Amino acid sequence: MLCFNVFFFNLYIVVINASSLLNIDDFLNLNPNSTTSLLTLFNMTRCVETENSKLTLNIITDFYKNMPIKWRVQKHTFYDSGYEFNNLIVTLPHYNEYDYEDTVFQFPKCNAIGLANDLILAVHYDTIANIPSFVGAIDSAASIAILLFISLQISEDSNELRRKNLKIIFFDGEEAFGKWSESDSLYGSRELAKIYNENGLINKIDLLVLLDLLGGVQSRDSKSHTIFNYFPETTDYYKQLLSIENDIYQSTQISLLDPQMSNVNIMISDDHVPFRKLGVKCVHLIPLPFPAFWHTIDDDFEHLDINIIKHISSVLLKFSKKFVAFKKIYI
Ligand SMILES: [Zn+2]
Repeated sequence: MLCFNVFFFNLYIVVINASSLLNIDDFLNLNPNSTTSLLTLFNMTRCVETENSKLTLNIITDFYKNMPIKWRVQKHTFYDSGYEFNNLIVTLPHYNEYDYEDTVFQFPKCNAIGLANDLILAVHYDTIANIPSFVGAIDSAASIAILLFISLQISEDSNELRRKNLKIIFFDGEEAFGKWSESDSLYGSRELAKIYNENGLINKIDLLVLLDLLGGVQSRDSKSHTIFNYFPETTDYYKQLLSIENDIYQSTQISLLDPQMSNVNIMISDDHVPFRKLGVKCVHLIPLPFPAFWHTIDDDFEHLDINIIKHISSVLLKFSKKFVAFKKIYI
């Protein structure tokens, strides 16, 4: 554990010093020797209740505590079916607040922050337990790294006010322990949606964007993996994402969204479902068909495409900034 701590200490010093350069390649790369990669940090199993699960939470918590601007970090621990689960909720409030000396708050006492509503970007960090050594590169290490990168970029805008709170949620227990069912899956999101509902916070969520199965190499059989517009109620948001993707296409030459806005009538069970059932507007960033190596031991870092990961990060960063409507203040 000591060597891990020393390693992370060094890593974050590098991250913070380098952050002013804002070079995406420093943070999103697959070089195992990189000291700044936010991706390779998560090249490990992250099964519920394991040391690696705790380590993952520690890495993410330390990352936010060392940001140029302070985020509120809340660990939400609960028990279900004999397991302990830990969600992590980090919040950048709509106003600047520099008195977060104690950044780990008890849940849910200190949850209400200001008056603004939330934009939530969410991901699950756990991995399937029944495939030994399964590291879940697309499921969902790449998405975790994308959200950390976006957080870091947004933290650079420390002199700006926002109209919305930006929340990043890292769910535990998305995967089933046995056969996927309503009661054996989505443990973290089901519990958090329930608590938000009980505390009247569910109506404060303007939009939840869920990332899953992103960043994989495209199939050799040239089947295109497309992120569709799954929900009619968030078509306007999908259009904004499309327009941003269009703008950056010239530099990335990547297009993952569906300009035809095809009518996809398919139910995908994932962490957005408990929130959507309670009326929360959701955008589900997940490709169809799922990559062929989904839920196999081949879901490893060899099967990630760094250009796709950088592309998604750029699109979602622009979208998020626009959504929370950063406004420069001059005093
Ligand atoms: Zn999965």
